[in-house]
Amino acid sequence: MFTLTWNKVVLTPQAQDYSTVMLSPALRLPSAQWKYATALELASANGADLAFRPVSLEMLVDSPLDAGVNERTLDLGTWDGAPVTLAAFADTPEQLAASEKTLQKLRDLVVQMRALYRNRHWDHYTFLLTVSDVMPGQGVEHHQSSDNGTAGGYLTEEDALTGGGDLLAHEFNHSWNGKYRRPDDLATPNLQVPMIDDMLWVYEGMTQYYGNLQAERAGLRTRQQWLDALALSYASYDSERGRLTRALVDTATSSPFLYRERGAWASERRGVDYYGEGELMWLEADVLIRTRSHGKHSLDDAARAFFGRGRDTGPQVVTYTRDDIVAALAAVEPYDWRAFLARHVDAVAPHPPDFLTGGGYRLVFGDAPSAYEKLQSARRKTIDLRYSLGIVANREGTIADVLPDSVAFRAGIGPGEKIVAVNDRALTGQPQLDVALREAGSGAPVRLLLTAGNVYRTVALDYRGGPRYPHLARIDGTADLLGAIAKPLAAAP
Ligand SMILES: [Zn+2]
Repeated sequence: MFTLTWNKVVLTPQAQDYSTVMLSPALRLPSAQWKYATALELASANGADLAFRPVSLEMLVDSPLDAGVNERTLDLGTWDGAPVTLAAFADTPEQLAASEKTLQKLRDLVVQMRALYRNRHWDHYTFLLTVSDVMPGQGVEHHQSSDNGTAGGYLTEEDALTGGGDLLAHEFNHSWNGKYRRPDDLATPNLQVPMIDDMLWVYEGMTQYYGNLQAERAGLRTRQQWLDALALSYASYDSERGRLTRALVDTATSSPFLYRERGAWASERRGVDYYGEGELMWLEADVLIRTRSHGKHSLDDAARAFFGRGRDTGPQVVTYTRDDIVAALAAVEPYDWRAFLARHVDAVAPHPPDFLTGGGYRLVFGDAPSAYEKLQSARRKTIDLRYSLGIVANREGTIADVLPDSVAFRAGIGPGEKIVAVNDRALTGQPQLDVALREAGSGAPVRLLLTAGNVYRTVALDYRGGPRYPHLARIDGTADLLGAIAKPLAAAP
């Protein structure tokens, strides 16, 4: 199978407006047995030779094509007469055997998106999806399609679908937030003009919010899994020392560098936090609107007005500025939204603003990970001890990050070192470390045998706090606003 992104194979004219350069793309597949899918419209086919209708250069690079031998097209329904399909490509035919239950969740995602935005800005929509243990994972947004790649078991194994449950919801949401409505400094006439990324806390932050929330509303994740994911996210940003020096807007402006820098000293440096911390910020905005309007309004109303915008259209770009965002929020609920954004986006803040208590929940630490955290650690092949010893490692024990000022940091442990043994027994995984942390509560230190290069050393960590994993707990006597937010939307008429 392959994913063809046209921008990698087309020579582009210098400094022209890509929306005015017209092309008639053609493609020869390896053989006539190969299947393909794309948002491009077919003009004619002759065996393996495909010719597509004339299209602007802007829309060509926005319309990748997936092809392969093992393909299955899933009908996900229509939206005001426009078809939504998922074209899945796989290593084997067995990987395409999605159950009726899985299909229903994917159809419900379309129903929930229509209930949220009401109006579409595409004439037809195709989820391109490679499910493969060979192809790299990805998620790239386009006007009339998205190019998704994930693990081979995605359509047939419940844990794989749950783990990546927000993938399709996130990329679909971008058709409204990102492609149709775009920050004005990110909308460039061609690929020679640099894009300015300072508004990604809307583009990616609100998409992260709705990607996870709409996946929950569609049943791709349970409410508990959605809450558990929020707990992990909140705890992670709470523990970042980089927030003492770096505002959220700077993580957006620096995205070209931070995308590739997720490992060593991530906590000190911060990462692409406009995704996850952006999600938490929009959750807080949603809670604020619901609280101040006594449940009459929500962020959904602002999103519908801003991204749905009155009627169905084909693909087009409508740009916006921060002022437009402030006005859209104020139109739904009068409030000093400019100051809200300044506090969350521009300020260097020692702790994240209070994202959760207004929603009726607070962050607590328990001695066992949630089922959702276990699932994600297994999927990402990580060992996560950041809230106890301060260590994040891969399953083989190689340390990816050490939190500044943690027990491990004070013992001189750093990224790149590898945990070989725990209390003189070969490393087997996170459960073994949890046992060692519990035993350490009654006196003996945790002994780690570490190696880097050809050097071995044993470090004895004096730590009494036991295993610590983040969870959300209800605050007694408060309204369950997060529960209200998680409720599936009534289907649009
Ligand atoms: Zn995105």
